Amino acid sequence: MIKVVKFGGSSLASGESFAKVKKIIDADPSRAIVVVSAPGKRFSGDMKVTDLLYLLQAHIKFNAPFDDIFDKIKERYIEIKNSCGLKQDLDYEFDVIASGLNKKTSVDHIVSRGEYLNARLMAEYLGYTFVDSASWLVFNYNGKVNFEKSYENLASIVEHTPHIVIPGFYGAMPDGSIKTFSRGGSDITGAIAAAAINADMYENWTDVSGIMTADPRIVDNPRPIENVTFAELRELSYMGAEVLHEETVFPVRQKSIPLYIKNTNDMNARGTLIMEKFDDEEENKNVHFITGISGKKHYSIITIAKNRMNDEVGYIRRALEVFERSGISIEHIPSSIDSFSVVVATSAIENNLHELISALNEAIAPDSIKIANDISLIAIVGRKLAANIGIAGKIFTSLGENNINIRMIEQGADEINIIIGVDDKDFKKAIRVLYNLSEVEE
Ligand code: ADP
Ligand code: ASP
Ligand code: MG
Repeated sequence: MIKVVKFGGSSLASGESFAKVKKIIDADPSRAIVVVSAPGKRFSGDMKVTDLLYLLQAHIKFNAPFDDIFDKIKERYIEIKNSCGLKQDLDYEFDVIASGLNKKTSVDHIVSRGEYLNARLMAEYLGYTFVDSASWLVFNYNGKVNFEKSYENLASIVEHTPHIVIPGFYGAMPDGSIKTFSRGGSDITGAIAAAAINADMYENWTDVSGIMTADPRIVDNPRPIENVTFAELRELSYMGAEVLHEETVFPVRQKSIPLYIKNTNDMNARGTLIMEKFDDEEENKNVHFITGISGKKHYSIITIAKNRMNDEVGYIRRALEVFERSGISIEHIPSSIDSFSVVVATSAIENNLHELISALNEAIAPDSIKIANDISLIAIVGRKLAANIGIAGKIFTSLGENNINIRMIEQGADEINIIIGVDDKDFKKAIRVLYNLSEVEE
């Protein structure tokens, strides 16, 4: 058994949290490949080291004095080093970083140092070998990960060095320069590492006991989800559940590696298990027909009506081509006989709405075009939804009873999700009502 374990910034913010990590590693010898983020917030109002590094880069770029910010960053690592009794020569590391700081230094290089330094400290603390991600995680010229080469590189390192700590968030371009993922990208590094060595498990340790049925900032103490499939997770994270970077799933799913979300502050809590599918015994334990609920605000619904539209072959296609030519990506297309709607993010149309409407008028000559703004989309996700006749009725009834107007409804073709549109003002209330509905057992 070999596990890849990733610790997020919230689990690595101080010497005290490093000690929790060591306890978790010591408790299970199969936790051999450790991926770390940069130190996160120690308390609310604190700054993440990655944010400080972005700020440092901005100061350098605009010729502003940056010593204070650099000192703040140094202090974070010095605290961890002293608290854990480490010998790492941080002065040397800081000097190397400082000597490379000038207006030409890339943002990616500067911000990557957050995970680099943390991985150095964690490697010493655990007695594992430090392996720089620039030496194995490689990108193609087009900026996409070169999976084949990265897998090969890490697999051959691990063959000789089975216990390693690697920094998350970055890798190297073909010319050796550093490239980072988007924010929160250490989750992806962990997934790539797990796929590279065909790990038996990828554990992602964070500050909550798993993925919650709904956003904990909207619902008080939501229930953690025990088991969720990769397909369900994809729907939930696309629609706003922010626990994992949305690109995390692909490498582990492809290799059928189970993924666990665990809590560093409560190591014995079960957490959430994510797999392709679950066996019957596990499924029978799952008594809820809704797995999770997530949502996002600020969408627009453009409704296009034309009498006898169904007689005109290619009508919707011609309309969609107008959106395509304008570079507007479409979220949903609910339709009826004489009308259909196109749901898009408001930000995608607010600056070119007039051009869009005149292009639509020209291309398809509709009877009317109506636009509704300030719409929230909410995804109700559950692999048991398809088998549950009447669930849509229950959703309508409970929203109606709470005076929430449903502006749109759509069911995904694979029947694991129902998407509803409500007014932005009803967003939180709708999530709470749906959460209460999800608490009801089958
Ligand atoms: P890390 O520093 O470990 O990468 P993140 O801050 O990226 O952690 O992700 C964990 C956070 O995600 C939680 O603290 C929580 O506030 C937030 N979150 C948003 N939606 C959910 C959800 N549905 N379930 C659990 N956590 C959620
Ligand atoms: N430290 C980086 C960030 O804050 C990457 C990560 O934490 O996953 O975005
Ligand atoms: Mg994260």
